[in-house]
Amino acid sequence: MKTHQERMAHKKAVVDQKIAKATEERGVLILLKGNGKGKSSSAFGTMARMVGHGKKVAVIQFIKGRKETGEFKLFRDHPLIDWHIMGHGFTWETQDKEQDIAAAKQAWALAEELLQDDSYGMLVFDEMSYMFKYKYLELEPVIEALQKRSKMQSVMITGRVMPEGLEEIADTISSIRDERHAFRLGVKAQEGIEF
Ligand code: ATP
Ligand code: MG
Repeated sequence: MKTHQERMAHKKAVVDQKIAKATEERGVLILLKGNGKGKSSSAFGTMARMVGHGKKVAVIQFIKGRKETGEFKLFRDHPLIDWHIMGHGFTWETQDKEQDIAAAKQAWALAEELLQDDSYGMLVFDEMSYMFKYKYLELEPVIEALQKRSKMQSVMITGRVMPEGLEEIADTISSIRDERHAFRLGVKAQEGIEF
């Protein structure tokens, strides 16, 4: 039987080999999907990591939820962070489809501009996937703009269900599974946890 030390030495050799193979340096497209809790908060956490290294970032929230989230309050005044909440704001309560489409297009126009600006190290397109689900945005131009973006820029897109075309061009896809959520235990959405 192998000793613990032998097993660890083997593991290290395997990991070192993989590290030696990963030599490329470039921005990545990350998709955070699934029904579990943790997509937007993970995107903002990674964004904080980027900002910690002195890089400029921008957030575009495609769905306007609560006006004053903890992350917005914390990050909005940071000199390296631009935070955009979509114009009129698509919410689950809106009944005005034309207004939603106009707001989606406006948010996308901004996103497209930022994708061509290499001074941004990371862009977060929060809840963007719903724009495709409801056909408020066409997928093709979005894919094209993502592929044309500057080499070192990373993009994170959140939303429960991702269109196939986005998955095809993504570098990293994490699916957050809903095993349990406090809401179903009768706990209401709480400050500092949900918003
Ligand atoms: P978070 O912002 O906490 O990272 P998320 O981005 O993964 O969550 P969304 O699908 O954007 O989740 O939903 C937004 C809100 O709904 C959050 O406040 C979150 O806590 C809540 N939520 C997420 N998943 C569930 C779920 N499975 N059941 C009930 N509420 C949920
Ligand atoms: Mg979210």
